[in-house]
Amino acid sequence: MIEPFAASHLLPAFRIKQFNLAYYRDLIDSYDELTTWPKTLREELAQTIPFSTIVPVKKTKSTNEGTQKVLFKRISDNKCFESVIMRHRDGRNTICVSCMIGCPVGCVFCATGKMGFVANLSAREIVDQVLYFGRMLKKEKETITNVVFMGMGEPLLNLEQVMEAIKIMNSPDFMGLGIRRITISTSGITPKIYELMKGGYKGRLALSLHAPDQTLRERIMPIAKKYPLPELMSTVKAFATRTQLRVSYEYILIDGVNDTPEHARALVYLFGEDITFVHVNLIPYNPIPGAPYKRSTPAAVRAFSQILSDFEISNTFRVTMGDDIQAACGQLATEATS
Ligand code: SAH
Ligand code: SF4
Repeated sequence: MIEPFAASHLLPAFRIKQFNLAYYRDLIDSYDELTTWPKTLREELAQTIPFSTIVPVKKTKSTNEGTQKVLFKRISDNKCFESVIMRHRDGRNTICVSCMIGCPVGCVFCATGKMGFVANLSAREIVDQVLYFGRMLKKEKETITNVVFMGMGEPLLNLEQVMEAIKIMNSPDFMGLGIRRITISTSGITPKIYELMKGGYKGRLALSLHAPDQTLRERIMPIAKKYPLPELMSTVKAFATRTQLRVSYEYILIDGVNDTPEHARALVYLFGEDITFVHVNLIPYNPIPGAPYKRSTPAAVRAFSQILSDFEISNTFRVTMGDDIQAACGQLATEATS
């Protein structure tokens, strides 16, 4: 991030190293704490490069343990977006980042989709979300353990900035977060999954599936018309074989829409014989304003999950964290815009 500044000021390499260590590892709170640099130099830096490209404008804590939503404003145009931190009981601290403001994909069950597309976030604006929570956790002597691209936006439609952000999170020269601790969640942009493979991405992938067949998927995820299910599934399977990592197939259970035993059996059929790298993450539908859908009944969830288990398909039912503060998946929609 400071490379242009370093070049214009003819800084030696060790100064860049000192900066990166303080900024990305020690998670300093301001340039004043960059004490390995002479005062004049860090003052000049402060005048040239903002310490953060985003500022928090509102924080909302959930009554569920450990979930907090932060509304950020980006300094370039004052547009707002949200990120979430989930502090799990098992010690994981997961940051759910946004890669866009709004989303162009338009899934009918998603609050972000209802906003439409507003803007892409830059790599630095994505990284700044992670750094913000990293600084917060540091005060409690804790660290970020996972980053998921499950906030606002479709990561594979802002791939260049997302990959640049992942490079900064993962590189030992910067944050040094293990690549397997990073998850890209996608609605299924088939050619971009190929691109991920070509680029040698070794992180995790989650596919938002939500329907076991093309017709139903098209109805609730209009993007499915463009990227049909058979080709999408074979591409994701190829990705899993390459990385030797299980893909998490996200499946929101919506009452009467996609949650019957027939749907569960169709899902089994869709996965076919080879289920080595399959994990189905069943998600309770989080109600959003203006959508006619309801959460599945506990009995329907149990029956659905049982059918998957009968066919030895690994599956879990996700507990919703933070739905009381509209911080759960698909509930992110910016309330304030300036
Ligand atoms: N655009 C990407 C990542 C962001 S959405 C994607 O779709 O995968 C993150 C997750 O939230 C996805 O699995 C998405 O399908 C899910 N989601 C969206 N709306 C939801 C809702 N109302 N209830 C529960 N999950 C929802
Ligand atoms: Fe976009 Fe994901 Fe929401 Fe669909 S679920 S509209 S892809 S953010």
